[in-house]
Amino acid sequence: MDCRFLTRDFEREHLFRLETYVGRGGYEAAAKALKTMTPSAVLEEVKAANLRGRGGAGFPAGVKWGFVPKGGDAPRYLCVNADEGEPGTFKDRFLMGHNPHLLLEGMIIASFASGIRRAYIYIRGEYEHLARRLEEAAAEARSAGWLGDHIAGTDFGLDVFVHRGAGAYICGEETALLESLEGKRGHPRLKPPFPASVGLFRCPTVINNVETLCCVPDIILHGAPAFLRRGLPRDGGTRLFSVSGAVARPGCYELPVGAGLRELIFGPAGGMRGGRKLKAVIPGGLSAPVLTAAEIDIALDGDSLAEAGSMLGSAGVIVIDDRTPVVGILSNMAAFYAHESCGQCTPCRIGTAWMAKISDRMASGRGRAGDLETIVRVAESLRGRTLCPMGDAAALPILSLTAKFRDELQEAAR
Ligand code: SF4
Repeated sequence: MDCRFLTRDFEREHLFRLETYVGRGGYEAAAKALKTMTPSAVLEEVKAANLRGRGGAGFPAGVKWGFVPKGGDAPRYLCVNADEGEPGTFKDRFLMGHNPHLLLEGMIIASFASGIRRAYIYIRGEYEHLARRLEEAAAEARSAGWLGDHIAGTDFGLDVFVHRGAGAYICGEETALLESLEGKRGHPRLKPPFPASVGLFRCPTVINNVETLCCVPDIILHGAPAFLRRGLPRDGGTRLFSVSGAVARPGCYELPVGAGLRELIFGPAGGMRGGRKLKAVIPGGLSAPVLTAAEIDIALDGDSLAEAGSMLGSAGVIVIDDRTPVVGILSNMAAFYAHESCGQCTPCRIGTAWMAKISDRMASGRGRAGDLETIVRVAESLRGRTLCPMGDAAALPILSLTAKFRDELQEAAR
């Protein structure tokens, strides 16, 4: 059964053009929301759909919208997190490239529900071609009356701006994104206050990931029960899985929330490349703790993966075969986090650099007795002791590698 709804029209030529999108029923959900529903009815529908954020944290989108104070003329903002910096993740790129109007339509509905009249798409600098595509789509939508004042003849209006980031991983963290959008260095803010009350330019702000907003038109058009049926009762809809690494057909695949990890790897992704043996899988982008080959009979939803000690995160599935030395993965991982640490807090600034130095030594055959234990101790010292989630993001996958592949890593540390 074809379960695609986000990507169902992707084979259609020029779907990114307004004319094609409208021909496929595009903007009908926005018209329905704006003309026949109240903002609170839209909010309740999205809450009922249990749409969890697709960026990494998995927070329910409707609940997040509900935190923004309503009423009055005070400015409020929507920021779309299109930074997509998590290694192994490329699904938002896929969505924005094929169907930018779906994102714009989701933004219109989210803004209507939250009383927002100005929205920003924060896109990573490397996605220049996609930034241009979004700008072209926004210009088309504006000239057709889907952006600007009096959308679809109603009193509601929305302006959308595309803002290019400078390519820092940490700017995918929501408060660092806000700092960067304000023209400052992308340093995460201390929370609370949370962006819903003090966000962009100190005003209430909703921050949603691209894929999250792309799910919204379907919820409004077909209702929350239909959306829930596509996935799980506690986590509705489908997910776009970015599959990379040692598979025969790497790519972006849409499957129901709760689909099996084994079925994804050996189904759409074509199984192991060159008939190699599976060694490990990172199921939710680089920050997710690793699963061994014996652990892949698991459902791809946030709760199931959390029970197994990992996470669904950005649904970036990195498949590792038996030829890949774990020490190489460890040193790549550590080098990445050391490079991307913003340096604000000492455990992250010093700890990631320390882990990178030691694991590089191990990977290049200069390991020393005690290296592995030192890495474990440093990773443990990061957990829960940093200002933003990157401390845990760096520590948890490293701790899972050192726990699950200890013998192989001990060899490298000799
Ligand atoms: Fe910066 Fe790392 Fe601290 Fe986050 S945890 S604020 S990235 S130094």
